[in-house]
Amino acid sequence: MTRLVVVGNGMAGARLVSEVRARDPHIRITVFGAEAGRPYNRALLSNVLAGTMTPGQVRMLDAEWYADHAVTALPGVEVTAIDREAREVLTACGRREPYDVLVLATGGEAVVPPLPGAERAVAFRTMGDCEAILAAAGTARRAVVVGGGLLGVEAARGLAGRGLPVTLLHLAGHLMERQLDAEAGLVLGESLAGLGVEIRTGVTVREILGDGVRLAAGAGRGTAAGTAGATAASPSGTGEPGEGEVVEADLVVLACGVRPVTRLARDAGLAVARGVVVDDEMRTGDPSIFAIGECAEHDGVVYGLVAPAWEQAAVVAGLVTATDRTARYRGSRLVTRLKARGVELAAMGETHLTEDEAEIVRFSHRTRGTYRKLVIRDGRLVGAILLGETPAVGTVTRLFDHGGPLPADRAGLLFPGLAGGAAADSPVRMPDTARVCQCNNVTKGRIRSCWESGARDVAAVAAATRATTGCGSCRDAVEGIVGWLCEQEGIPA
Ligand SMILES: Cc1cc2nc3c(=O)[nH]c(=O)nc-3n(C[C@H](O)[C@H](O)[C@H](O)COP(=O)(O)OP(=O)(O)OC[C@H]3O[C@@H](n4cnc5c(N)ncnc54)[C@H](O)[C@@H]3O)c2cc1C
Repeated sequence: MTRLVVVGNGMAGARLVSEVRARDPHIRITVFGAEAGRPYNRALLSNVLAGTMTPGQVRMLDAEWYADHAVTALPGVEVTAIDREAREVLTACGRREPYDVLVLATGGEAVVPPLPGAERAVAFRTMGDCEAILAAAGTARRAVVVGGGLLGVEAARGLAGRGLPVTLLHLAGHLMERQLDAEAGLVLGESLAGLGVEIRTGVTVREILGDGVRLAAGAGRGTAAGTAGATAASPSGTGEPGEGEVVEADLVVLACGVRPVTRLARDAGLAVARGVVVDDEMRTGDPSIFAIGECAEHDGVVYGLVAPAWEQAAVVAGLVTATDRTARYRGSRLVTRLKARGVELAAMGETHLTEDEAEIVRFSHRTRGTYRKLVIRDGRLVGAILLGETPAVGTVTRLFDHGGPLPADRAGLLFPGLAGGAAADSPVRMPDTARVCQCNNVTKGRIRSCWESGARDVAAVAAATRATTGCGSCRDAVEGIVGWLCEQEGIPA
């Protein structure tokens, strides 16, 4: 009987285990997880921080599931080495576990910049981090979040939503610079400012103090995107020349990026670039060792989102169980959606191309917090930013996803429902092939057939298809489809 060992029981590892078990009841599975407790949906930690979900609601598989499915799960046990010759993994507590197939799903870890006083801050990556932030937030008077990428923005919004004055400090000139152009970053900053987050961009943090964060000397306030609703950062008051300003805070959260965890693979002599290098089968240079999720590097890319990790898990499950010997991973088209109450944002693809490189259709209405941009090349959508509420998200995402030709009326895509414009996203007009849940690759057609088999609400659809169980941003769309189907048949939703 094949012995499968999985290292890492995060989003990729836990998904792999359930995919493998669903395909093969016999394969022997052992999964090691360095974190204690049940695996959880890491992407939903932002909701826990914001108070819109409880820790219990984001937990995934429980002890009963493991027992029922004959999977040995070892939470709180770190694998420290791989003995490739003996085909065994070694753990911190001295256990040796033999494998025929080994899957590395060790994920990523928060980057903690080498700043004096960094130990006073909390990173934002794990459930433990989240609990530490919430405990500190209970008594804190002001918070600083360092890093204005997706996680930093979600953390800052979440803390502000709990009534804490928050300053978000970001090194680059605008927020989420990887996903957004400068104007979108500015509009996002203004929206957050209106929700109580003070934004300061273009600033370098020098030191974390007991009572705040010292900025590099000369870090002025001129780059702030907006200060409405938040008290301004206070100058140091020390008067010492060359010393940077101090932004006061008794809670400092670090959201300075994520680095793939690759030590095990590197020590075992496997190829590691940024991540563990894998081929289209997610296999490393050793045919019995695979890597998936945020620790893996496929075709030069390390993905930092759930959808690719789960696609990769499905490929490996198909190969390991021989239920799909032709399964291959070919890369993912990424759609990023912000989970910040009061700010709707979806960004996808090549948003930074200029008018010289692509056809750009853009609309900006800063006072309404609206910014919409389509980036088109050779008649196809290669990137988009949709900031502020719009009924076009589903249609635009679908066009990006499929890479098909765009309608001639580009502006109509940005203004669905207007005379001559495209139809607003609606369950009625959406084709059955439209991917509603990006994380789990669930189409409208699947939701419809699941409804036809008796699923009458979101929970039942989620149980049957897994739609809504990734980052959760498709919940409204699924609800809309279920409601429309019920309405058509005169069934109360
Ligand atoms: C706050 C937050 C919000 C996010 N929001 C989104 C979102 O909206 N959409 C989205 O798509 N993505 C989001 N992400 C990213 C997403 O959570 C990750 O892409 C995903 O968790 C990657 O899964 P993974 O299994 O590869 O890594 P992880 O989830 O990090 O799991 C890896 C696990 O392996 C364990 N491990 C590591 N080394 C060892 C070892 N030697 N022995 C045993 N165990 C080990 C770790 O402890 C960890 O539990 C978010 C992430 C965070 C932190």
